[in-house]
Amino acid sequence: MSNRDLRPETIAAHVLQAIDPATGAVVPPLHLSTTYARDENYQPKLRENYQRNGHPALWQAEAAIAALERGTEALLFASGMAAVTALFETVPQGRHVVSLESMYYGTRNWLKRLAELGRITLSLCKPDEVAGAIRADTDIVWIETPVNPTWDVLDIAALAKAAHAAGALLAVDSTAAGAVATQPLTLGADIVFHSATKYLNGHSDVLAGVLVTAKADARFDAIKALRTSTGSPLAPFETWLLMRGLRTLFVRYRQCTANALAIARHFEGHPRVDRVLYPGLTSHAGHEIARRQMPGGYGGMLSLLVNGDGAYAKLVCTRFKLIVPATSLGGVETLAEHRKTVEGPASPVPDALIRFSIGIEHADDLIADLEQALG
Ligand code: PLP
Repeated sequence: MSNRDLRPETIAAHVLQAIDPATGAVVPPLHLSTTYARDENYQPKLRENYQRNGHPALWQAEAAIAALERGTEALLFASGMAAVTALFETVPQGRHVVSLESMYYGTRNWLKRLAELGRITLSLCKPDEVAGAIRADTDIVWIETPVNPTWDVLDIAALAKAAHAAGALLAVDSTAAGAVATQPLTLGADIVFHSATKYLNGHSDVLAGVLVTAKADARFDAIKALRTSTGSPLAPFETWLLMRGLRTLFVRYRQCTANALAIARHFEGHPRVDRVLYPGLTSHAGHEIARRQMPGGYGGMLSLLVNGDGAYAKLVCTRFKLIVPATSLGGVETLAEHRKTVEGPASPVPDALIRFSIGIEHADDLIADLEQALG
């Protein structure tokens, strides 16, 4: 059976082909060596012989993630932001980038910085304004879907068409979709990105990022060369941990989805909650697109707009007994965060919003904790 015939669950569980051909080890070996000896003809034994260029665990994890996303090549970086910044480094001087005014703030702030420096021109817009903001000189349309922290859903296929009509690339931050819900490259996107720190690893113990391309081309080679020059490939031990996390990706994501749906339904209409933002609810603005675009599940990311002000939302975040008041997402434990505090006063996130990354605990325990915290 060729790797292309395997279903995604199988690709993840085996990290494509985990068995070490040299020893039969079922778990991939961990090579910490920074350098590899040449053979008797003074030829490199591996594709690369210095760790900054790549290493065996990296290639194995990249092949598995590329297969999961139905892409041709993947590049793993030491963090999500290392991957994001490498991609934007390849935008030609002065060219235009379209993105969202409300999305993961680290990427938005990086784009704003590039615009301030005169490196790029930038349009940050609302989800329904993205297609209209694309111009003849647009180089990249960068979207996130579902979007942090409102979980709006953008139509990848429609935006791919709009970007391609102008000769631009569509790049999708698919972190919240976890490579389970949606495969953006199959819908026409050119590049898919994950903060692999989140669902792909899933245990809140590895910082990593990945870019997957639909086609191997000179631009992707340039990103790879940048990764080598800036010394930002994912290191062997982190790659090994990421592969361990990847093996359970599908069961984790499905449990997170089931829990999030139960919580969303429980708190919709709750007297202390103004609105539940979750794409799995029919009341959510993005539900119609999500129904077609997220066949693998709506995921574990959910936000509550509480009935009250920012002070009340923050107070709720101090009252949890089980849910952890911490940043990040995609782990097995449920985390909650008052996003406005984290992003600062200039953030477009509403004061009353609490963002949850729902984990794999029993949904009833999470509901009980939320009930007592809401007071
Ligand atoms: N994109 C999204 C949607 C994120 O949530 C994050 C991190 O929170 C990033 C990108 C950046 O990734 P990292 O923290 O791995 O650098």
